Amino acid sequence: MPNLNFHPAGRHYLQIPGPSPVPDRILRAISYPTIDHRGPEFGVLGRKILKDIGKIFKTQHPVVIFPASGTGAWEAALTNTMSRGDTVLMYETGHFATLWKKMAERLGLLPEFLGLHGLEGWRRGAQADMIEARLKSDPQHKIKAVCVVHNETSTGVTSDIAAVRKAIDSAQHPALLMVDTISGLASADYRHDEWGVDVTVSGSQKGLMLPPGISFNAVSPKALEASKQATIGRSFWAWDEIIEMNKTGYWPYTPNTNLLYGLSEALDMILEEGLEQVFDRHRRLSIACRTAVEAWGLEIQCVDAACHSPVLTGVMMPKGVDADHVRKLIYEHFNMSLGAGLGKLKGMMFRIGHLGDANELTLLATLCGCQMGLQMAGVQLKGDGVAAAMKHLQATATAQARHPQETIDIPHTEAKVLNSQSEAMVGTA
Ligand SMILES: *Cc1c(COP(=O)(O)O)cnc(C)c1O
Repeated sequence: MPNLNFHPAGRHYLQIPGPSPVPDRILRAISYPTIDHRGPEFGVLGRKILKDIGKIFKTQHPVVIFPASGTGAWEAALTNTMSRGDTVLMYETGHFATLWKKMAERLGLLPEFLGLHGLEGWRRGAQADMIEARLKSDPQHKIKAVCVVHNETSTGVTSDIAAVRKAIDSAQHPALLMVDTISGLASADYRHDEWGVDVTVSGSQKGLMLPPGISFNAVSPKALEASKQATIGRSFWAWDEIIEMNKTGYWPYTPNTNLLYGLSEALDMILEEGLEQVFDRHRRLSIACRTAVEAWGLEIQCVDAACHSPVLTGVMMPKGVDADHVRKLIYEHFNMSLGAGLGKLKGMMFRIGHLGDANELTLLATLCGCQMGLQMAGVQLKGDGVAAAMKHLQATATAQARHPQETIDIPHTEAKVLNSQSEAMVGTA
């Protein structure tokens, strides 16, 4: 039996693109005693969370919280709005888009998978013009929803959701717009209301810095209206009862009390830093990470500069190098976890997460681990990626301390005693 309590010294570097490292402040909040979810104390917590969570999605409309992983919120988005046999247009950005499509099939929907051929589609964001053209060729409006992954975690590519909205509007098509930003929320700019998204799906364990276990649906009035006609069947996921009870700060069934303590803390942390500042921090770290990969002379999975994810970077291996072997070396020698290549990209790349509770030095440590592991695996590196990232971070550094260093007078009593002692010693010498 391996000893499950064994952890090597120092912190494990959890650099997968979710779950991301959980800050101590959130871990402490989660450790408070579990309370009665029907009691008055819970109501205060519930109302506070439900008021603040909309600021993260940038919505005035309801955000439904489920005690489930992100996959549950995917299912909730489809089962609340669709009926068996409905056609849904899903865009293939990568592995997660593929999993959402499989779910749609299992639920008895007719997903149509749109995308560029082969791996090309996995290197770019959703092509809004393709979506527009497909919707224009659907005059009978058989397509009931357009589903897009905002931040494709398997590739490190984001999609322009505002452009997808525009495509739907240009085609004058009534389909709902559903967006998965499970790994984008609170890391990459996202605007549920402004971009006219009908259902936004998200989860706790990525940008929100929480453990896995809660997930979200932000719901537009149009999606809520559609849910009244949708007949696919739902009970646990049904929005109506949850939204009704949420008005008082409670849930129809037992919510994930301790994770909600953590969510409350996470919301405080993000809003204290400022959402835009959080986005800037992610953007800057992601540029530094790409600078390192380019200096190594390795290829980045995302080939469109406008779509680079601020959350993670997909690093392609040269021909003949097994990315999973590199990850294994790094894990075993340097206690760091990196994301594996998923689906079509298995073994071809690894993914560096730089999301959530991340800063300059956590990124640099991560890049050091990668650089050592790559060299140990015999990968020929063109240059020193760590040095290149340092240079970028140094050049773009701004003083960010909440409490700037002050000059303070340290009392000198002890020092004087020492001085007089040494003087005395000098005197006796
Ligand atoms: C993590 C992730 C999921 C899956 O969420 P789970 O919490 O693992 O169920 C779906 N989509 C994207 C884009 C993700 O990053």
